[in-house]
Amino acid sequence: MKWFRIPKESTTPPTSGSYQDWKPQLADEGRFQCVYCAIHENNFGGTRNFHVEHYRPKSIARFRHLIDDFNNLYYACSICNCFKGNDWPNDPPSNPSIPLVYYPEPSKMDYNKLFVVREDWIINGQSVAAKYLVEKLYLNRPQLILERRSKFLLNRLEKEVKHLQLLSRRISGSELSIELKEFLYQKSVDMLSKAVSLLVQKESIRPYKAEDIEK
Ligand SMILES: [Zn+2]
Repeated sequence: MKWFRIPKESTTPPTSGSYQDWKPQLADEGRFQCVYCAIHENNFGGTRNFHVEHYRPKSIARFRHLIDDFNNLYYACSICNCFKGNDWPNDPPSNPSIPLVYYPEPSKMDYNKLFVVREDWIINGQSVAAKYLVEKLYLNRPQLILERRSKFLLNRLEKEVKHLQLLSRRISGSELSIELKEFLYQKSVDMLSKAVSLLVQKESIRPYKAEDIEK
């Protein structure tokens, strides 16, 4: 799962309607994934589980005029959208290196640069603002960790399968040695067991824990 900067400057805002009407365009602009946690709508119940997110919250009086401002709107999953709610700790500082708690603007910042993904698929914020984002939007919820892991595993399995196909083509016609048969067998079993273990976990995972709603 990868984040990316939303290129608002190259989007033509709609000329009619209001924010509720613009979800399809926001989804397209956001590549059909959540602007904050990067989960794709395929893995999270499709577009009905996604919201039109007001980056500057529409419930805050001084931002009310931005309610139908396309540049303030993003495509976000319902979980991130609910966790963020009306929260707005500070306006973004003019200098992004200032250590301040705020929400980095998705059209100005590539969120990929905000986080480091650890080996156990937990993400760490690289700045005060990024740490706050991880904490407040609970970007290490169980479902996201599993999605990161499964994305990585899928890429790896694709590579391994290609490698095995190449290997089997190379040796076709010649007799397989016992060692090679054993190697191919072990490799296949290893890949399958990883995939099965992941699928079993995905079957039983709850997207987030009940107590985390209180965070
Ligand atoms: Zn999300």
